[in-house]
Amino acid sequence: MSSITVVGSVNRDLVLTVQDLPRPGETVLAERFVEGVGGKGANQAVAAARLGSRVRLVARVGADAETILRALAAEGVDVTEVLPAADASTGIASVVVDRAGENTIVVNPGANAALTVADLPEHLSGAGEVLLVQHEIAPEVVAAAVLRARELGGTVVLNPAPARPVASDVLAAVDVLVPNLGELATLLDVAPPTGPDGARDLLEKAELPCGAVVVTLGADGALVKQPGRPAVHLPAPAVDAVDTVGAGDTFCGALADSLARGGDLLSAAERAVRAASLAVTGLGAQSSMPTAAQLDSPAA
Ligand code: ADP
Repeated sequence: MSSITVVGSVNRDLVLTVQDLPRPGETVLAERFVEGVGGKGANQAVAAARLGSRVRLVARVGADAETILRALAAEGVDVTEVLPAADASTGIASVVVDRAGENTIVVNPGANAALTVADLPEHLSGAGEVLLVQHEIAPEVVAAAVLRARELGGTVVLNPAPARPVASDVLAAVDVLVPNLGELATLLDVAPPTGPDGARDLLEKAELPCGAVVVTLGADGALVKQPGRPAVHLPAPAVDAVDTVGAGDTFCGALADSLARGGDLLSAAERAVRAASLAVTGLGAQSSMPTAAQLDSPAA
């Protein structure tokens, strides 16, 4: 049995690098084109597998996903529950990045939208195991996965990205919620707070029915709020950030890896901050995710 089950998306990432982003109606030529495996589900699964956890991915892909499945399996991710969708192609993310690192992204959910509640394995995540879910699949699948894993005694981690509201009975079954500032604001239906202090003020006042909340703060690291305890700010190491795409996914995968090993939440979040901060120093979402050896080397 896997220690981490990820229920989520798999995308084919088409990354085009341009000098300047095209304006409406304009055509520009790309300077570089790279195709890769993406999707928050696949990214988080790879992040956790690279750190040594046994990871299973539950997802839907099109018939065109052979190379993607091979790449995920080569990372050590169990893909036996990645099912083919009959009438849809694999999800696609078309990413255009300019020289300043600014980007625009268009996602076609494709086969990810075909993942249903019936696709969820009976045994999702039991005691000592972690379920990790994001918002790139249908809300009812997220809800069913969270509620089932909770019933089975698993540790439920929800990364509510992209931002959308979550029903309170679902939130109540979440052990660790991992939003960024924008996603936290959407969940609470307020304007996005700024920085660690804004997040801290909001969390001290907010009534979120979940267990703990770990807010990711970009270059400011993360804020951990556990019930009945004051919030703790974990600053990120100062790094030369080259590409922050996939930073949140590295964070979630690393957090799940530590929790599946029985680590406490604060040390898990501290390690996740370091893992994600290392990941932003390299280009690409998955290519720059650290291994355990890289994360634990004295230079890291
Ligand atoms: P998301 O990409 O989901 O919005 P964040 O931007 O909050 O997530 O980043 C997640 C984590 O990545 C942060 O908690 C931090 O550890 C790391 N990170 C992101 N940007 C930087 C940066 N500029 N410098 C150092 N670490 C960063």
